[in-house]
Amino acid sequence: MSICAPRNIETLDSILPDEPLLMMGAGPVPIPARVAAANSIVINHLGDTMAQIIDQVKSMSSYVFQTNSARILGVAGPGSAAMEMAVANLVEPGDRCVCVCNGFFSNRLADMAERSGGVVNRLHVKPDASATALSVRQYLEEYNPKILTIVQGETSNTVCNTDLADICKVAKEYNCLIVVDAVCTLSTMPLNMDEWQIDAVITGGQKGLSSIPGVSLVAFSETAWHHIQKRKTPMQHWCLDAKLADQFWYQKSYHYTAPVSGVLAIHEALRLVCDETLPARFKRHLRSSLAFQAGVEGMGLSLYVQQAHRLNSVVGICVPNGIEKATLLQTMSNRYRVEISGSFGANIVRVGQMGEQCRAHNIFRTLHALGAAMSSMSAKVDVPAGVSALEKSLQLFDADVGYTELKIESSA
Ligand SMILES: *Cc1c(COP(=O)(O)O)cnc(C)c1O
Repeated sequence: MSICAPRNIETLDSILPDEPLLMMGAGPVPIPARVAAANSIVINHLGDTMAQIIDQVKSMSSYVFQTNSARILGVAGPGSAAMEMAVANLVEPGDRCVCVCNGFFSNRLADMAERSGGVVNRLHVKPDASATALSVRQYLEEYNPKILTIVQGETSNTVCNTDLADICKVAKEYNCLIVVDAVCTLSTMPLNMDEWQIDAVITGGQKGLSSIPGVSLVAFSETAWHHIQKRKTPMQHWCLDAKLADQFWYQKSYHYTAPVSGVLAIHEALRLVCDETLPARFKRHLRSSLAFQAGVEGMGLSLYVQQAHRLNSVVGICVPNGIEKATLLQTMSNRYRVEISGSFGANIVRVGQMGEQCRAHNIFRTLHALGAAMSSMSAKVDVPAGVSALEKSLQLFDADVGYTELKIESSA
């Protein structure tokens, strides 16, 4: 042996903080204890126990995706692997695609469509605005694509495509397959796959679902499945081949060794969503995010995106002039043990409101950490006013049930 074992490797105990940091960024998000416990188990990936678990994952996913589709597939990989599974199976060389591009992740869908040989037209939307059904219609009229890709929530700049249902309606008029990235939004806000006639919905584990990163889900419609089955060109990716994945997810046979622990984790995450029910979960997310937003504004800071286009699952906060973003994040992490995210483009920091992040104790702690860290950097923020605005917003939400129902309905 010529290569020696490395010295000075520290144990995880000495590397990780005693008390875990509160993960309030754009993902991964904190996981419930049951999800963590499930993630520590290894079982036979082809046994009867696994078959039962897979069946349950599929039936719970039907509810969470709001689809009767019999093509819900898991994938060992990040949300991006699920994106690639949807795109690469549906796009064949020469296929025309219109990709609605609001930011970083929607452009990733376009990149993937290009790599699959698609002829891609990108509909670029201003970074602080939602796409409109009208602009999508113009692109579909001009290019007559086989496929439309779009994100429900653009995590990178905290914009929500609020007109998604109408955009899907338009896409169906043009007989177009619709691929929707719901990585940060699934189970945080309404998405009705069947009703909106979406052909592929993508989600990851570590965001809206509050599971671990590394196991993701894709649901295909019957129409999408039909296209996949009659592909003329073979899939380039073996691991992401939906027909091969179907062997494991529907035929109880072997594709690759499933990420069993992660599948158990997502099983528990989905079970918690089903227990909570979608309407209650949407309400919890809305209540928490609106209160956090009120707190941020109450403190004297401004939100990056106007309310009409704003994503509630990830909140973008403008960083005041003279405040060094990296120092702010470091101070929040070191002094208050709260992690939030920076951003790729705009001068914003981002706070997630997905899954377990939407708990009152977490948003109070995060708002305080943000305000106190900014104060220590000489920013003009009024922390008590922010905390008070947060509390008031929670109370208002709880008191005004009519208002609550209305908000949920109107975003559906
Ligand atoms: C996070 C995210 C992704 C990518 O997920 P990974 O797990 O990082 O690959 C894709 N789309 C959206 C909208 C996201 O928020």
